[in-house]
Amino acid sequence: MKTTGANSASGRPHPAVLTDFDDTAAAQNVAEMLLEQFGDPDWKNVRQRFREGQIGLKEYQEITFRNIRADRATMQSYVKGHANLRPFFGELWGFCQANDIPMAVVSQGLDFYIEALLERDGFKKVPVYAVNTEFRRGEISYHYNHAYPGKESQGNSKGFVVKSFQERGCHVFFAGDGQSDLEAARLADVTFAHRTLAKFCDDESIPYQPFEDFRGMLLAVREYSRNGQGPNVGRRAPG
Ligand SMILES: [Mg+2]
Repeated sequence: MKTTGANSASGRPHPAVLTDFDDTAAAQNVAEMLLEQFGDPDWKNVRQRFREGQIGLKEYQEITFRNIRADRATMQSYVKGHANLRPFFGELWGFCQANDIPMAVVSQGLDFYIEALLERDGFKKVPVYAVNTEFRRGEISYHYNHAYPGKESQGNSKGFVVKSFQERGCHVFFAGDGQSDLEAARLADVTFAHRTLAKFCDDESIPYQPFEDFRGMLLAVREYSRNGQGPNVGRRAPG
């Protein structure tokens, strides 16, 4: 991992921007879109077992995509034809690029569909922390490279990714919508939340900004990097 996230010339921690993918960076839940189109008809029963807490997100995703009836190229082209990024994603990426601010997608989803959409819109360079997949002889294998050491069997952790940026001295702006975003929201310096994540944040009294698209995040990151001001600045105790 790069080590450019240390304090800026102003002495303030350098900002970093992390966003969830399904239903956040992407306007749709792209994983479900693919399962709806190509999944085994049983996939909704598996989702029900996940929602009832009988299986974890990792198992839910592995089981449903194992039974999918399409190859990688077919799914990627479907994503390119049917999904879209939320407004101001590109403007935020452009601002981050111009100001040497790290920005990345952090997702519990699968790398190939995230990369397909980013690539279609010209954002191939956006780093993606997701489940890495390998397609071989009609089978998908899954690799979890962003897990807490020793906890790989539990899958990737968004909290682990947020923490790794903070350990490099970054002031982390995070956006998300779902249950898997909660551990990141608990740690992030500034959280943008909508849907389920907003409810969880309310329950745990985690401060957040409402998220609709990336405009608010762009303004907050710009304000922070120019003046050191914005939501929740100074919220995290030093050290
Ligand atoms: Mg999501």
